[in-house]
Amino acid sequence: MKKIAILGASGSIGKTTIQIIKEHQEEFKLVAVSVYSNITYLKELLSEFKTIEVVGVKDLKEVEKYILDYPNVLFYEGNDGLNKVATSNCDLLVNALVGFVGLVPTIEAIKAKIDIALANKETLVVAGKLVTKLAKENNVKIYPIDSEHSAIFQCLESENPIKKVILTASGGPFLNKSFKELETVTVEDALNHPNWKMGKKITIDSATLMNKAFEIVEAKWLFDLKPNQIEVVIHPQSKIHSMVEFRDGSIKAQLGISSMKIPVSYALTYPKRLDDVCESISFTSHLTFDFYPVDTNRFEVIKLAYYGLLKQGTYFAIMNASNEVAVEKFLNKEISFVRIIEIVKETLKAIPIDDEVTLESIIEADKKARVYARRLK
Ligand code: MG
Repeated sequence: MKKIAILGASGSIGKTTIQIIKEHQEEFKLVAVSVYSNITYLKELLSEFKTIEVVGVKDLKEVEKYILDYPNVLFYEGNDGLNKVATSNCDLLVNALVGFVGLVPTIEAIKAKIDIALANKETLVVAGKLVTKLAKENNVKIYPIDSEHSAIFQCLESENPIKKVILTASGGPFLNKSFKELETVTVEDALNHPNWKMGKKITIDSATLMNKAFEIVEAKWLFDLKPNQIEVVIHPQSKIHSMVEFRDGSIKAQLGISSMKIPVSYALTYPKRLDDVCESISFTSHLTFDFYPVDTNRFEVIKLAYYGLLKQGTYFAIMNASNEVAVEKFLNKEISFVRIIEIVKETLKAIPIDDEVTLESIIEADKKARVYARRLK
């Protein structure tokens, strides 16, 4: 039985992981979870999974009574809680945290030689160089959960190097809106993703295409690619999750319905596959596959990502931090949708990029960028 720990168990990917564990209890044993402040959900998990040994929460005060009810469970709070879950007695850590907060627990798990199923793309966006180097040194595997990267991972051939990857993008809810129209879209419009049901932060990132910009960086580090080996194409149906082209021009694509169950379960059981994880695509029901180039004038973040791959250093730590701040501001209705990317650009201009990539320089850049971006309106 594979012992699983989950960071961000109460989020969208966390709950998908729990569902897979429930459906395959002969395969997995859930040993540790973090739930931030979703205590109601924690209560459900503790009563259902008697195997849980370690719990991370935002604040221990909120779980005082469970500490008495579950004498065999160790409870921790804050960042310490995340690190304790990450380094618990598990065979695989599912990191489904949202944002920069996922970085340090990933590093802690790598140091503890625990393999990682990674949904927290920000880890690789801000510190890809550091994290992949450390994983290599510690002989730790990082399995992608992001659907595009899972697709690429599923297409790989051990004997044949990648010529290039083609990341597909649904284009989000505003694919066909002009820049003028984007100025007046609401939070509700932005949260209404056409194909995927996800958490708020990633749904907004999908609407700005920041999510795709981050996925370019994620692909670079996961598959050791040069910027010109990563192509992005709009595929509104989200049926092809991404493609790999080999040196002879042959292209392999991975297809499936728009569900995170396949990427999550494949990361949990690689190289094995579980039975009947999802329903099949029906090829007889007027299925069409459309592809378009990305309009990088309207969605400038894609250009910013390629530029950042050339710059490196702390560029993406600044880009990510300012984006996290701006998305929060937008969700709180403090700024308009188009201001999100403007704030990111203004912060990138203002904060100097440090060429040295260490955990300290990344944390420092993240802090500075947050302080700066918070001031912007
Ligand atoms: Mg994705």
